[in-house]
Amino acid sequence: MKNYTFTFLFILSTLFSSASQNRKVLIIGIDGTRSDAFQQANTPNIDALLSTSTYSVDSWHTGITWSGPSWSTILTGVNWNKHGVTDNNFTGSNFAQYPPLPTLAKQIKPNLNCAIVAEWDPLIDDINNAGWNRTVKTADGSTFPTADSAVLELQNPDIDFLFAYFDQVDLTGHTSTFSPSNPFYIAAIENVDSAVGRVLNALYARPTYSNEDWLIMVVTDHGGQSFFHGGNSDAERHIWWIASGDMVAHEQINKADPGTYNCHQNNVFDSTCVNYNLMRQSPVQADVTVTALHYLIYDSGINPETKPEWHLDGKSWLWVPSGIADDSFEKSVSVYPNPVRDQVTILCNNRELDAKAEVYDLMGQRITSLPQHSYADRISIDFSPLPSGQYFVKLKSGMNQAIKKIIVLK
Ligand SMILES: [Zn+2]
Repeated sequence: MKNYTFTFLFILSTLFSSASQNRKVLIIGIDGTRSDAFQQANTPNIDALLSTSTYSVDSWHTGITWSGPSWSTILTGVNWNKHGVTDNNFTGSNFAQYPPLPTLAKQIKPNLNCAIVAEWDPLIDDINNAGWNRTVKTADGSTFPTADSAVLELQNPDIDFLFAYFDQVDLTGHTSTFSPSNPFYIAAIENVDSAVGRVLNALYARPTYSNEDWLIMVVTDHGGQSFFHGGNSDAERHIWWIASGDMVAHEQINKADPGTYNCHQNNVFDSTCVNYNLMRQSPVQADVTVTALHYLIYDSGINPETKPEWHLDGKSWLWVPSGIADDSFEKSVSVYPNPVRDQVTILCNNRELDAKAEVYDLMGQRITSLPQHSYADRISIDFSPLPSGQYFVKLKSGMNQAIKKIIVLK
């Protein structure tokens, strides 16, 4: 019994210590990489993230397909009508009212340590009020020196958030066309992927890595066609979106184009251009900062999506209930017994559960072999084939989902 109690307390303390200051975020930005070319290119380093990611190769740009407004949205979580950037001159920017991610995060956690490594100077010079502890400028298109600068940042034991940005793909598109049939454009994507591999290896090599929980996001700002971008064509708007970590669902999202806010008739925004229901189900650029910010301040209990003074447009993709999901669903789900030796019952009051619950191990691998039985308001799962350890069960009820931790003790 003594042993049992010790083990149980140990597991409990492990559970709760993972909710402390160890959540960290790496965002890798790759400029100008259209989805079809990204899918065609050989990108083993980025692909290795996908099994632990919420990701989409059918993400759609919802604003102005220039780098200035796009990265401004990615880094602030608001659309251009708020951050004010409509082109690469950054005139009219309003980062005082809609600051970038580090400044927002530090309103909750002032001691967060944030750095940016970027090849395109305006990301550092013109997206101001950002709150970076360190800014590192590298040469346009330099790729591997940029990766090396990012590696240096990741060797800092105190870093909490790093944004690393590469523009070789966009530069190659402008000089030789943005096209999956352009071998130079594909080669540039593959080259940046190699640099990403160098950055990720440095992250995994951190001496403290096993005690840290990293959210890794890889995103682009727009596609392109011929030698240009800036318009509303599919080739310019069809992009991709990746968030890898333990607190996001591990699934690919395929949704139709939710439309664009860059849609005007007689200089008035035409709201019929956006399908808001689809927008809520699709990963878009404004979601990058909201998801990353939510992750960095998670133990404060604040969901940035619904913090009124921030007025953010994006949504969080973390597993926890969000402003979109109905958190009464999460609360209505109970699990017993827990810890469990064999049979778990998951009961949901007053709701219809979707027919199947998904079970994951700590590595995010889905376990499909467990016998389970579904009833209208409950699911029973037999955990007896599994060794002792911590698992997650994901449940859905319509649009809502809940994640429950299950501890198996043998
Ligand atoms: Zn460009």
